[in-house]
Amino acid sequence: MENKKIQLLEKPTTVLNYYKEPSFLIPIGISCSWKCENCINKEHMFEYSYPEFTIKEIISQYYENILANTIIMAGFEPFDNYVNFMNLVEAIRVSGINDMIIIYTGYDIIDFRSNFLLLNTFQELTHFDNIIIKFGRYIEGLEKVWNEELGIWLASENQYTVRITR
Ligand code: SF4
Repeated sequence: MENKKIQLLEKPTTVLNYYKEPSFLIPIGISCSWKCENCINKEHMFEYSYPEFTIKEIISQYYENILANTIIMAGFEPFDNYVNFMNLVEAIRVSGINDMIIIYTGYDIIDFRSNFLLLNTFQELTHFDNIIIKFGRYIEGLEKVWNEELGIWLASENQYTVRITR
């Protein structure tokens, strides 16, 4: 599993705007069905190939970063890339990293009830500790909303977080 290569939107990096503390962004979502107006990733919208990294390389980069103790899974839509996404979450936990993982999805929690693949992935996630999901896609024209759990402003007021496991 560690040598499996996966595509990421771009190289993982330390970011300051996804959580109240510095966090390590793994842009695992390389496609998204929502097509929101003014998509946060619009600069990647018309790219057809993305850089590849082994799971081992991604985990090593996390170990080597000196600032972040929290992992963000985002990019376009992580749940649309569910095989690589779950492989990565599992490999992170198997490697002994139990730091918080925050998943940024455009889906709403209601979507998971009516989609077998989403529900299945969600249930698999509940087997891992310390997981938060930020739900809701960006809707142009809505106000920003303060999120106490993440300690940041989310981009539109329909967005919210749920702590899946502790
Ligand atoms: S859900 Fe996020 S990544 Fe997907 S189109 Fe909307 S803003 Fe872009």
